[in-house]
Amino acid sequence: MTKNTFHLVSLGCAKNTVDSDSMAQLLLRDGYCAVDDPARASVLIVNTCGFIGPAKEESISVLRELAEGKKQSQILIAAGCLTQRYGSEVAQRVPGIDGVLGTRRWMDIVQVVRELRQAPHPEPLYHLPEEAKTVGRDEQDAMRVSVAGASAYLKIADGCRRPCAFCAIPLIKGTAVSRPLESILEEARRLRDMGVRELILIAQDTTDYGHDLGMKDGLAILLERLTASVPDMDWIRVMYAYPGYVTDRLIDVMASSRQVLPYLDMPLQHAHPKTLYRMRRPSNIDWVHKTLGRMRAKMDNLAIRTTFIVGYPGETDEEFQALIDFVKEIRFDRVGAFQFSFEPGTTSEPLGDPIPAEVKQARYDQLMKLQQGISLQINQSYVGRTLDVLVEGRDKGIAIGRSYRDAPEIDGLVFIEGEARIGDIVPVRITGAMAYDLTGVPAPELIGL
Ligand code: SF4
Repeated sequence: MTKNTFHLVSLGCAKNTVDSDSMAQLLLRDGYCAVDDPARASVLIVNTCGFIGPAKEESISVLRELAEGKKQSQILIAAGCLTQRYGSEVAQRVPGIDGVLGTRRWMDIVQVVRELRQAPHPEPLYHLPEEAKTVGRDEQDAMRVSVAGASAYLKIADGCRRPCAFCAIPLIKGTAVSRPLESILEEARRLRDMGVRELILIAQDTTDYGHDLGMKDGLAILLERLTASVPDMDWIRVMYAYPGYVTDRLIDVMASSRQVLPYLDMPLQHAHPKTLYRMRRPSNIDWVHKTLGRMRAKMDNLAIRTTFIVGYPGETDEEFQALIDFVKEIRFDRVGAFQFSFEPGTTSEPLGDPIPAEVKQARYDQLMKLQQGISLQINQSYVGRTLDVLVEGRDKGIAIGRSYRDAPEIDGLVFIEGEARIGDIVPVRITGAMAYDLTGVPAPELIGL
């Protein structure tokens, strides 16, 4: 085991991935090397997820596995959202943790490692300041990005001020804090110079960008400035929009820009006004119909992704049926779903968790089965058409990539039979469709058109 080495496990969402990569950058800058084999690392770090029950248990089991295999000379740090909320409980449940670092202060990772290596700590070292550091540029200039090949997540804000009753994020991350616009533009230019071709804008709520900076329509303004600042960035993708805040200006920027993809991820969580009201979510479903209608009128190739929760306390058969009818009517390109997870400390806590597990599972299965059919039909409508595909890998002679309709890790893939270089964006004639993925062949005659 080499002295200054670290092994980092990143769990949870894309925002956690960005924090993990930023922590890695700070350690690399401090002279550490990253290693894939935990046995060869002097520092073990798990960037945990604390969003819902199953994610918490996964974080605990990963920590336990590393703690059980840990050598005397190694140190184990539990970081991220789970520790921000349940720092001491995590340390009690996993003997062998040396340091506990909250998600609001991931940028203090080097300081925590130094303190742990300077002197033995019979008890875990807790570093859980409530006050989050601004997500602007500070210490050692760590970028707020996660780069994977030609694609990069770019975090534009952190935290959330929405009142969603089931969600613990505001308890974990605090209220929404936007990054200074110039710092985002500068980072986008650096990514462009690094050869990145797709920028994926992320936050808990991207449509709230800039409100704390006194901006109105901040996301639309950011996109206008980004397209002007990096005109040669091929793709700009927007994730995590909040219903009620997709404005006309935002729609116009998306519709008029060659770079901003006609793709929107907008978690709706449910479709029955009564359920949404109990969730403390925007419950004006007419707004959703009208806004999606306006967007589809301006972008006839718009791809929409959303997320729903089934089994929320009080969800009746009639309310669930309304969700099913809504999904049938809107025909989303992509749907993710969660079964309600009881979260202590959230405003939904007093409602308990009354819906039986088997009912939640049955509703989840019914919803995903319905969407699978819709997704297949929509995919079949692309057979014979041509899509630009960002090539990200090859496997057994097949190139694998994503089209504008596919965000990384959560949407579909395009499998290309033929020559296609990793990192290129190539026109692909679609020859086949599956429930979530497409197959195709390169359409060289269309390159450059
Ligand atoms: S918008 Fe709602 S669900 Fe999303 S992070 Fe904020 S509080 Fe949670």
